[in-house]
Amino acid sequence: MPLKPDITPPEAQDTRVGFALVGIGKLTAEELIPAARTSEHARVAALVSGEPDKAQGFARALGLTDGDAYTYEQFDELADRDDVQAVYIVLPNSLHREYATRAARMGKHVLCEKPLGVNAEDAQAIVDACREAGVLLMTAYRCQYTPEHWAARDAVQDGTLGDLRLLHSIHAQVEDDPEAWRLKRELAGGGPLPDVGIYSLNTLRFLTGQEPEWVFATQHQPDGDPRFQEVEASMSALLGFPGGVSATIQTSYAAHDTGTLRVMGEQGSLNMDPAFPYDGLKLSLSDNDGTRQPSFPEYDQFTLEFDHFARCIRSGDTPWTPGEEGVQDHVIMDALYESARTGQVVRLPTHTKRDAFRGTKPQLPQK
Ligand code: NAD
Repeated sequence: MPLKPDITPPEAQDTRVGFALVGIGKLTAEELIPAARTSEHARVAALVSGEPDKAQGFARALGLTDGDAYTYEQFDELADRDDVQAVYIVLPNSLHREYATRAARMGKHVLCEKPLGVNAEDAQAIVDACREAGVLLMTAYRCQYTPEHWAARDAVQDGTLGDLRLLHSIHAQVEDDPEAWRLKRELAGGGPLPDVGIYSLNTLRFLTGQEPEWVFATQHQPDGDPRFQEVEASMSALLGFPGGVSATIQTSYAAHDTGTLRVMGEQGSLNMDPAFPYDGLKLSLSDNDGTRQPSFPEYDQFTLEFDHFARCIRSGDTPWTPGEEGVQDHVIMDALYESARTGQVVRLPTHTKRDAFRGTKPQLPQK
């Protein structure tokens, strides 16, 4: 796997926060390892995998030694590594809780991939374990760290669009391997909703800074398709935000790659298309005078996440997307599944405070 060149001067490396990456799947190999190499504040200090050869190969490519590669059985030996201050959990969803809890007990800070768990109870157990151990927990919601999403949030919240009325987002992709862990309920917790639909949900909550008060959803699980024996193929949902603002979210594992976001106020609207890939995000803002497309600096979303969490570890600040932010998405997703099952509107607890589940604002890349 080609890696980006290491641009960090060697003398700076030892002072960066050391992360152990747990799980070397596609995301770790193709995105996180290259991103950590260009991070100012974070570095990979250890790798944990079920395949020792793979972990050792990546360790050597990073200038580490075979001794920095651990198997899952050796995970608890990271307790002896003072140079590993944090673990980044990049495993199938149902394994997040076990590894986050074990990491917290070792006194390691935890960066955990989305979704935080498989349901609200599971995710809350991770929050509780980290709180009890006195370590920081961040849910890896990369779309809350990009300048494009922050510009969209500013337009929503500073009155540029006028009073907010309608929100809409679609996130879909085709999952064609019936054996994929993403299609196994026990490992994934659900289908497209917790995997890709979560971006629509999380980003609409981020843009508005508000929480839905009720939800209504329908889902489709086709008979006879081997992929969808355990999880939904598609879900369509209606969410009621405060002040009569309504949102529609659609997600699917059986629809062509799509990731869009639209927000309509009375005086203007914004469109992000694509809204969720790792790069190439496009934001347009429209009002009666026309449409403009702001430009943004280059950056790597995963580097921004690494740097934010490393800064929080240094300062002791709560991350912008802490564990509580991950739990809240699960509370809403649990309600969406309940609604799809019962055919009823499901009401949610009221949260009047803006950004009720968020911590310290991240630094955005400058032009
Ligand atoms: P993947 O299938 O590519 O990798 C999963 C890794 O977990 C592999 O190394 C695999 O060997 C290991 N593993 C350990 N136990 C396993 C088991 N019982 N079954 C299957 N694999 C097992 O998955 P991924 O795409 O890297 O996803 C991992 C996590 O990252 C998930 O929580 C996913 O939601 C998240 N993710 C986030 C983004 C993002 O943009 N933030 C993108 C992709 C994945």
